[in-house]
Amino acid sequence: MSKGLVVQKYGGSSVANVGRIQRVAQRVVGYSKIGYELVVVVSALGDTTDELVALAEKINPHPCEREMDMLLSTGEQISVALLAMAIQKLGSEAISFTGSQVGIITDSSHTRARIIKINVDKIKEELKKGRIVIVAGFQGVTLNQDITTLGRGGSDLTAVALAKELQANSCEIYTDVEGIYTTDPRIEPRARKIKKITYDEMLEMASLGAQVMQPRSIEVAKKFNVPLHVRSSFNTKKGTMIIKEVKKMEDVLVSGITLNRNEAKITLCGVPDKPGVAVKLFKDLATSGVSVDMIVQNVSHNTRSTDISFTIAKADLTKASKIAKMVAKKIGAGDVLLDEDIARVSIVGVGMKSHRGVAAKMFGILADNKINIEMISTSDISISCIIKKKGAEIAVKKLHADFGLNK
Ligand code: ADP
Ligand code: ASP
Ligand code: MG
Repeated sequence: MSKGLVVQKYGGSSVANVGRIQRVAQRVVGYSKIGYELVVVVSALGDTTDELVALAEKINPHPCEREMDMLLSTGEQISVALLAMAIQKLGSEAISFTGSQVGIITDSSHTRARIIKINVDKIKEELKKGRIVIVAGFQGVTLNQDITTLGRGGSDLTAVALAKELQANSCEIYTDVEGIYTTDPRIEPRARKIKKITYDEMLEMASLGAQVMQPRSIEVAKKFNVPLHVRSSFNTKKGTMIIKEVKKMEDVLVSGITLNRNEAKITLCGVPDKPGVAVKLFKDLATSGVSVDMIVQNVSHNTRSTDISFTIAKADLTKASKIAKMVAKKIGAGDVLLDEDIARVSIVGVGMKSHRGVAAKMFGILADNKINIEMISTSDISISCIIKKKGAEIAVKKLHADFGLNK
């Protein structure tokens, strides 16, 4: 009699070498032996995806996105096969599948494809035969049979989507830390593990740079109310539950601090201060698939021109700067400045909704540590500052300490 269906996802560092793959196999078989049905989603071994990206760039600095997907999807194909072999070696039955084989159908936006539907019949058939089903994370296929990938960190999304579609009893995300922390524990060892966090706060932290979960996976988990348990693959300790609601007597002001070093800033100088200028720039950026993050524009005072600065993902810098230069010429603006030496530090917390003075406190902490703020943006539950990279880790540690988050 089955105890229920569990979807488990193991990240790259959890399957980085032979020993770790064998350990994952033991854990999976352990669950199976006590009566659970298992669908296991696996990422590529260690840094394989980064290595494949670097390899492609050596061949062609601007590789075609369809071919990138053909290449990157191979990483996960290696790990599913190896994990299936490791499980079989332990005497249990397992079968591995690519995203395409199990029917993860996506749209055709290569390198960041969206899942349209999943046909879980094949997985169910194999589970019925008593097999452990291993599925390659991060990948799908279009209706035209083109292989796609779901954006970096996309194995999280594969796991959440399968848990939803299979109506799994639980979805466990195994990684190299013991759960979600108040900030990246690699930057601040005094970071605290959070027992329970809401989808909204997790989504905000993930979108602002907490690499531990892919933002889109949290969006889907929230939409379909799939509870997630983020935990370590190196021990059996309870991790963090990501859920709809966390009841606390009083909301804490700040629940987490995040850092994102993967953005770049573009400034258009001497932009004519008249209607229609911003739309030209940002429409062209949007049509070419560049998503813009923060935007700062001042009204001009004495002259009839102003500067516009905006941030984008570093990966989009070449594309975005080309467009910015073209638009600058068209509208009669001056120089276009590029700055990769920036970092975004953010504070996140639902408690901010009902408290005043949080922003002032953040700016004060940065000022006390002689850290200059270049741009600011706010949402309902977060405040972000763009600063120079040099001060980024200090900023995270000081904000973490002064907002009372240290262990
Ligand atoms: P995986 O390979 O398992 O998908 P990732 O490297 O994508 O793992 O994510 C885990 C890493 O996320 C951790 O090693 C940690 O350094 C980083 N991280 C950043 N912010 C946080 C946070 N707030 N809590 C936990 N981990 C975090
Ligand atoms: N291997 C892919 C990446 O590195 C997907 C993942 O790990 O979730 O982005
Ligand atoms: Mg990840």
